[in-house]
Formats: sequence, structure tokens, C-alpha cells
Amino acid sequence: MKVFEDLEAFLWMNPTTNNCNTYLIKGDKNILIDPGHHHLFSHVLDGLSLNSLSIEDIDIVIITHGHPDHLESVRRFLNLSTVIAMAEIELDFIRKIAPHYGEALGIPHFEPHVLLREGDLHLGNIRLEVIESPGHSPGSVCLYWPDRKALFTGDVIFNGGIGRTDLPGGNGEQLKQSIQKLSRLDVTYVLPGHGEIISGAEYVKANFREIESFWFGYI
Ligand SMILES: [Zn+2]
Repeated sequence: MKVFEDLEAFLWMNPTTNNCNTYLIKGDKNILIDPGHHHLFSHVLDGLSLNSLSIEDIDIVIITHGHPDHLESVRRFLNLSTVIAMAEIELDFIRKIAPHYGEALGIPHFEPHVLLREGDLHLGNIRLEVIESPGHSPGSVCLYWPDRKALFTGDVIFNGGIGRTDLPGGNGEQLKQSIQKLSRLDVTYVLPGHGEIISGAEYVKANFREIESFWFGYI
């Protein structure tokens, strides 16, 4: 699904199977955000194919956080020239909970080429801001694209909801602070790791208000 000229969303709306949304930024570098579960990767391949692209055309894969439903398919890129980027804090954490990256947890062993930290990330003609957003997991990052007022939120916030805090390393107070930090950005598109995109600044603001008034009571 085309969100706007240089952004495609491969949304996962199947209610019976857990997989994440994958996003494709089409700049002078092709950037794929969260490739998803390994056994469901055909969903991404189909989306790429509709854009006349193949997996070899992806220059950079960015992982918002280390849960298998976002990360697992990174293994598809390990023998390619694709640059893999994820947060240093998250990498340290998954190494700790899954020694040797625990295949049983669906976390492949790999060495990211880029370790993300808070701040600017220049990828060809695209500038993203990495926003450290712990709470759902210790090293979750959101990616803000100022030129498009677009915010990739991973599992930090959704359309009408927030990420779980009951998984290893989750922390409700941190999640609340992360969401408050994100709510101060100028955002027209919220691009979550699951569920529907929020499009329109007023709807984005309303979603933050709903989260703060309702969900903050639960974390
Ligand atoms: Zn998650």
C-alpha cells in the first residue's frame, strides 16, 4: 500500500497470525523497516515485487526492536550486501536473554553493521532521527522522518493502543516517558509495527490524547 510517494507499507492485518508491519522507504537507498517473521517473509517479498523490487534491491534494513516478529527475517539479508541497523542497547539485551541469539527464540545470530543511538541517521538522501523509546523493550527505537512528518513507532504506540510491557525487559514507566517524548514531535503519519496507520495531524494528536487518558492508567 502506498502511503505517499516514497513510502510503501506492507501491512499485516491477519488477525490469527502475529507478524509485524513492514515499511519500505524508496529514496536513492531502499530502506526496509522491520522485515518480520521468517516464515511469513513472502508477505514482504510480495510487497517488494509489486514495487518491481527484489530482496537484493534493499540497501538497508532497520530493526525497531529485537522481538522475533520484527527481527527474524533479518536472516534473509545476511548473505547480501544489505546494511543491517539496530539499537546497541537492544542488541546487548537480546544477547543477554538469548545467548548466541537463541535460535529457539527465533533470533538469528548476526552482527549489525550500524548500531543505532539517539540522533540523526543519514541514509543516502533520506534523513531519519533515531528516538530511543524504551518501555516495550529496553532498546526499542522509533524513527522520525522530519521531511515527511512520519513516525515509525515499532511496538511503542499503535492506532488506539500501546506496546506490551510484560515481556522481558518491559517497563511501564519508561514506556510512558517514551510516549510523552514522542507526543511532542510534529507528526502527520504514525506508522506502527502492528495495526493500521494513522494519517492526519489531528488524528495523530487525538491518538496521543486517547493513549494518555486511557492507557496510562494501565501501565
Ligand atoms: Zn515487540
